[in-house]
Amino acid sequence: MDKVSEMYGTNVFNEKTMKERLPKETFKELEKTIQDGKPLNIKIANAVAHAMKVWAIEKGATHFTHWFQPMTGVTAEKHDSFIEPRNDGTVIMSFSGKELIKGEPDASSFPNGGLRATFEARGYTAWDPTSYAFIKDGVLCIPTAFCSYTGFALDKKTPLLRSMEAINKQALRIVKLFGHDDVKSIKTTLGPEQEYFLVDKEYYEQRKDLIYTGRTLFGAMAPKNQEMEDHYFGTIKSRVQKFMNELNEELWKLGISAKTEYNEVAPAQHELAPVFSTTNIAVDHNQLTMEIIQRVAKKHGLVALLHEKPFEGINGSGKHNNWSISTDTGINLLEPGETPSENAQFLLMLAAIIKAVDEHQDLLRLSVATAGNDHRLGANEAPPAIISIFLGDELTSILESIENDTPYIEGEHEYMRIGASVLPNFQKDTTDRNRTSPFAFTGNKFEFRMPGSALSVAQPNIMLNTVIADALQEYADILENAEDFDTTLHQLIQETLRNHKRIIFNGNGYDDSWIEEAKARGLLNLKTTVDALPYSILPENIELFERQGVLSKDEILSRYEIMMEEYTKILNIEALTMVDMAKKQILPSIIRFEKELADTILLKASVSQSLPVGYEASTLEAISNELEQANEALLTLQSDLDKLHAIDNFELAAAYVRDRIIPAMDALRKPCDKLEMLTGSEYWPFPTYGKLLFGII
Ligand code: ADP
Ligand code: MG
Repeated sequence: MDKVSEMYGTNVFNEKTMKERLPKETFKELEKTIQDGKPLNIKIANAVAHAMKVWAIEKGATHFTHWFQPMTGVTAEKHDSFIEPRNDGTVIMSFSGKELIKGEPDASSFPNGGLRATFEARGYTAWDPTSYAFIKDGVLCIPTAFCSYTGFALDKKTPLLRSMEAINKQALRIVKLFGHDDVKSIKTTLGPEQEYFLVDKEYYEQRKDLIYTGRTLFGAMAPKNQEMEDHYFGTIKSRVQKFMNELNEELWKLGISAKTEYNEVAPAQHELAPVFSTTNIAVDHNQLTMEIIQRVAKKHGLVALLHEKPFEGINGSGKHNNWSISTDTGINLLEPGETPSENAQFLLMLAAIIKAVDEHQDLLRLSVATAGNDHRLGANEAPPAIISIFLGDELTSILESIENDTPYIEGEHEYMRIGASVLPNFQKDTTDRNRTSPFAFTGNKFEFRMPGSALSVAQPNIMLNTVIADALQEYADILENAEDFDTTLHQLIQETLRNHKRIIFNGNGYDDSWIEEAKARGLLNLKTTVDALPYSILPENIELFERQGVLSKDEILSRYEIMMEEYTKILNIEALTMVDMAKKQILPSIIRFEKELADTILLKASVSQSLPVGYEASTLEAISNELEQANEALLTLQSDLDKLHAIDNFELAAAYVRDRIIPAMDALRKPCDKLEMLTGSEYWPFPTYGKLLFGII
C-alpha cells in the first residue's frame, strides 16, 4: 500500500507540490484564485509558471500544452516545447506566466457551428486553475477552457464552469436562509462510473466496423451470450487483471482516484468507478480516464471499446453520473439531516430537484443524446428514454404526507411540518436499488443513469446544474421575501410536490406498461437524438440558459448545429462502412462458398446421380435468397446515401438519417447476419461475435 500512496498524484502539480515549490505569498494568492475564482495577476502567473516548469523538467517533460475539451467530445492538445534558442547556439528552457494562463490555438478546425460564419476563427485557451496541471507522456498539460476571441464558448468546460457558478450563487442564497453564514462556496460533486468492453486487438484489427465506428455493424449472435449471468462480478481473467493493474497505476499517478473495478453484466464488459470529486475536476479526470483506458489496453494487446452499443443483443455501456452538492464547510446538501432545520434544507433541495427535473425533462434527455446512446436508451437494458425520478417507497411516502398534510405513519399522527418536525429516520435506499430508473436517489446523491459510456459528462452536468440553479433561484426569490419563513417554506415544498409529483416513479422502468403510464402522466418520451436536440433551441430554454449565464443564444444555436451534424456524420460513416464491408468482404466471401456448394453438387452428380445433395442444395438455395435480399438492401442504402449527400440543411439531413438511413442499415444487416449463420466459418471474412466476446483468454 505504501507504494501506492507514494505513487499517487506524482504526475500532478497538486496543492502539496505547489506548497512545497511556490513562495508562500504566491501560493496564498494562487489559493485565493482557486477558491474564489479571482483572476490571476501576471506576476503570480510568472512565479507559478516557473515552478511548474522546473517541476515538469525534473519529471522528464520537454513540452507543455493547453489541454482542452472542444465540441468533438474528445480532448485536444497542441504541444510546444519549452526551448528558447539563444544567439550563441544554445537553448534555455522557458515557460512564462503568459503561456500558462493563455494559449492561442487556431479555432477554425474545431467544430463551432454557426459561430464560424459570424465570428473570427481565432480562439484562445485559458487556464482553469481549479483543475491541477499534470504530466502525460512527457508533456506538461494545463487544463484550459476554450473560447473564441469574442468570448464565445467553443468547448464543454466553459459552460460547465459557468453552470457551477450559477448553482453556487443560488445555493448560497438558500443556505444563508437556513443560517449557514459561514459557507463561502458550494460546489457540485460528481462520481462517474465508466463502463467499457475489451476485445483482443488481433480480432479488432480485422473488423473495419470496429476500426471506423467503434461498434459492430454486422454480427450474428454467438451460441452463448450473457444469459448465464456468469460474467457479472466474475473472476477477472489474468490478462485483464494485468491491464487493470497498470491502468490503476497510470490513473493514480495522475491523481485520479480509481477505486472500484469489476466485470459487468455482458461478457468482456468491465467497469471502473472513481471516488467522487468536484464536478469540473471529475469531468477532466473522466476524459483522461477514457483516454488512458484505451492507451493501456493497447499495451496489453487489447482494445477498449467505449461505444455505447458495440454489440447488438448484448448490454450496452453507460456512464452513471452520481451527482451531489456540498458546501465548503463539508455539508452534503442531499444528506438528510438530524435537526428540523437541516431536514427542511434537505427537503427544499429535494423539491428543487424534483421541480427542475420535471420541468426540464427535455434538457436532461437531450444532454445525453448521441447517435451511440440511441441504441441504448429504451432498449430494455438501460433506462428508457423517459425521464423519471426514483426516491424509494419510504421517502416517497414522507413526501406524500407533506403534500397532503396527512400523518406519515398511519395511527401515529405524526404530521410532517417542515422546519418544525424531524424527518422520520427512513431507510436510505442502498439495498433497494432500482436499476431501471434513469434518475435515482441513492441516499445522499442522485444517480443519473442515462449518459452513455463515450459521452463527455460535462454535458449532463451543465444541464443538471443549470436547471437546479434555476429552481433554487425561484425558491430563494420567494423565501428571501417571506414574512413567515416556515409557513412559506412548507407551502413551497407542498406546492412543488403537488405540481411535479408525476415525475416520481418507483416502479420498473423496463416494463412496457410504464411507457403507457408515462404517456398518461404527460411525460416526454424522446426516442432519438433527432427528436431530442430541437428542444435545446426552444425560446424558453434559451431564456433559461441566458438567465443563468451558462450559454448565450448564439452559443446554443451553434451547439445545436454541431450536435445534429455530428449525429449525421456518425451515421454516414457507419452506413458507408456497411456498404464497404458488404461489397468488399461479405458478398464476395459468400460467392466463394456458393461456388464451393455448386461445384460440389455438380461433382457429386458426375460421380453418381444417386448421391444425395440435400445439404448442399438447400444451403445454396437459402444463401442465394439471402444474398439477393442483401444485394437489394445494399443498393437501397447506397442510393439513400446519395440522397443524403445532396441535402444541405443539417436538420433535414439528420431527420433523413433517422427515417431512411437507419432503417436501410437495419435492412442490410439482417440478411448478412443470416448469411453468417449459413456460411462455413472459414469463408466468413472477419471474426465473429463469439471471438470478440469470448476471445480474451
Ligand atoms: P455503488 O453504486 O457501486 O454501490 P456508491 O453508491 O458508493 O457505489 O458510489 C457510486 C459512485 O458514486 C462512486 O463513483 C462514488 O464516488 C460516487 N459518489 C458517492 N458519493 C458521492 C457524492 N456525494 N457526490 C458525487 N458522487 C458520489
Ligand atoms: Mg451505479
